[in-house]
Amino acid sequence: MMAISANLGFPRIGVKRELKHAIEQYWTGIISEQELKRTAAELRQKHWKLQRDHGILHIPSNDFSLYDHVLDTAVMVGAVPPRYGWQGETVSLSTYFAMARGTSDVTAMELTKWFDTNYHYIVPEFHAGQTFCLASAKPIDEFKEALALGILTRPVILGPVSFLMLGKSVDGPFSLGQSLSRILPVYESVISLLAGAGAEWIQIDEPVLTLDLSQEVMDAFPDVYARLHRAAASARICLATYFNSLGDALSMVCRLPVQALHVDLVRAPEQIDQLLHSVPETMCLSLGIIDGRNIWRTDLDIALAMLERAKDILPGRQIMVAPSCSLIHCPVDLAEENKMDDETKGWLAFATQKLDEISVLTKALNDGHEAVKEALLESSRRVQSRRQSPRIHQPAIQSRVASVDDSMLRRKSAYSARRELQYSFLRLPALPTTTIGSFPQTAEVRTMRAAARKREITGEQYRVFLKKTISEAIRFQEEIGLDVLVHGETERNDMVEYFGEQLNGFMSTQNGWVQSYGTRCVKPPIIFGDVSRSSAMTVDWISYAQSLTNKPVKGMLTGPVTILQWSFVRDDKPRQDIAFQLALALRDEVEDLEAAGIKVIQIDEPALREGLPLRRKQWPAYLEWAVNAFKLVSSGVRDDTQIHTHMCYSNFNDIIDSIAALDADVISIEASRSNMELLQVFAQFQYPNEIGPGVYDIHSPRVPSVEEISSHLHNALAVLNSGQIWVNPDCGLKTRGWPEVRKSLKNMVAAARSVRSALLK
Ligand code: GLN
Ligand code: ZN
Repeated sequence: MMAISANLGFPRIGVKRELKHAIEQYWTGIISEQELKRTAAELRQKHWKLQRDHGILHIPSNDFSLYDHVLDTAVMVGAVPPRYGWQGETVSLSTYFAMARGTSDVTAMELTKWFDTNYHYIVPEFHAGQTFCLASAKPIDEFKEALALGILTRPVILGPVSFLMLGKSVDGPFSLGQSLSRILPVYESVISLLAGAGAEWIQIDEPVLTLDLSQEVMDAFPDVYARLHRAAASARICLATYFNSLGDALSMVCRLPVQALHVDLVRAPEQIDQLLHSVPETMCLSLGIIDGRNIWRTDLDIALAMLERAKDILPGRQIMVAPSCSLIHCPVDLAEENKMDDETKGWLAFATQKLDEISVLTKALNDGHEAVKEALLESSRRVQSRRQSPRIHQPAIQSRVASVDDSMLRRKSAYSARRELQYSFLRLPALPTTTIGSFPQTAEVRTMRAAARKREITGEQYRVFLKKTISEAIRFQEEIGLDVLVHGETERNDMVEYFGEQLNGFMSTQNGWVQSYGTRCVKPPIIFGDVSRSSAMTVDWISYAQSLTNKPVKGMLTGPVTILQWSFVRDDKPRQDIAFQLALALRDEVEDLEAAGIKVIQIDEPALREGLPLRRKQWPAYLEWAVNAFKLVSSGVRDDTQIHTHMCYSNFNDIIDSIAALDADVISIEASRSNMELLQVFAQFQYPNEIGPGVYDIHSPRVPSVEEISSHLHNALAVLNSGQIWVNPDCGLKTRGWPEVRKSLKNMVAAARSVRSALLK
């Protein structure tokens, strides 16, 4: 057989989020460990059979996880941090979940983003003298479980180099060489056990191969893979890379003793030529041609042309047809969408549909186009419909984007001139106090929202309720003496979805769930067409809030980059064009807010940093359009309108010039957990505009004391100008409860007042 259909990983959560529900029921004691394990096994079985029935030959196992596959790998190699009191026996489910989520006695391990996706993994922790041992046979157990069902799978394990590099050392420096020499025996055992159990292929994922790697890391690969190759004996290794091109690592990788190499041709199609000419005869290529990270139907003609070129250049050689990466970044099954019209549905492919695409392409290579004529025709019909649909392509929007000129990306006056106007107009004290936007999304708020959605209450009843929450929020903020107020965002379920539901060019799904971390799933909106705004989206709520007070109320918008980052984005246009379309729609909203008398407008960009490309050399281009998109939203206003932005992370070191280039009058950032240390970079840069370093951590219900907040403020004053500093929490308060929010904000205002009066003296 010329071509083999392969998959790299299938969503674990289940089409109805069965896994989430079972795990959460286990956590609350509703079901037993045994019942949870039964549900997990049923899901694995269902997904293996589904892949087999959709024509996949290389079906992954051990892609399943009860929480996260990096955590599973840490458990496999016995890297359980000492605080969990593990004694070296098999890791119990309660220890496993304690590592994932913490308990009342012990903190959880850290979560962080998996490369540039919205999936979060558990960061392995290594301590001085870290040793490893085989502590879980999960890969072998799941391989055998599938085999017992008559399905020969291709077990997947996260490779040792990636695993170590994704971890962090908690005490002192970390030596890759030493850690590898300690961890490799465990990997060798797992691989030889898998081979012994009958695995013919083993997939080893080394996604770090698509990052900028040091020579030390590059040099580690040959020995590691020589050892793993020996351990595999007659089983073959498929080394999987994804999310970017191999770049400089290509020639090294082509010399590794592995029998197949998987590459991402969706993210990095440009690597195909070099690859086809470098790959040795002993290595089979796995071509990741189906987008594992997006929901669009593949243009099979284009994909097939690419595959056939590979076939021509590598005559007689076997190739694998695969998704670009694991399908865990896609929703499970489009068939669950029964409210979507047929035309739109025809443009999409979720994980299950992607399996069909893989098997159609494989069949076309093996048996000729004729054998899949119907499927190819259907595909090209759908692709044509998407290419031509007037619902997608709006010439007026495109020409508006084309007519954006530099003057639209600049405020009328420089910051110093604006500042004077804003301060006299807003009559702000030194160290002005504010919050980031959202107030607690209480059970009542969620119940009312659900009732409105199910039409158990009328739209009018819902609006009356929201107005009540807004007026209570305003009254509370006035009472405690905040300077710039917010309306509380209770009308928003989610900061991206809220805008997605109102903008043209967006659609939402009923069941398009994707795992974000652990049992948390998100349902990203889909940007399918040119984006525009039909009418104001936030003005009524903000104006209502403003009508209740003489203090300024901030208008609250989600910025274009964040909307883009947290949505499924169309793949037929560069991301920056879509960012500009979003920016123009938001620019109109800003203009409407200003016209309605709103003097302070905040444009949140918490995802600006996470949009950074994986490789440094791609950063400048990204930062340029991301900054311009923000400026396009924010620059049309009068000088006396104050523009805020918010970013909730604390690492600005390598992007500080882009942050300054945003030219927001005020930026609020997360700072409390780093004790204001991150302000150093703003000070060194001589950041000219205003900054609100978060003075307390909103991730915990703990109420910060007045002294603690004051001390944060003194730390900030030590490095910044007093005229630059705002006082606010680290982020929005939607996940908190009112009792702690009331106390915390009161303390925050008290601290600001006391530091302010000390300043005056
Ligand atoms: N304005 C948003 C809020 O307060 C910001 C959320 C965020 O930064 N993620 O909830
Ligand atoms: Zn935030």
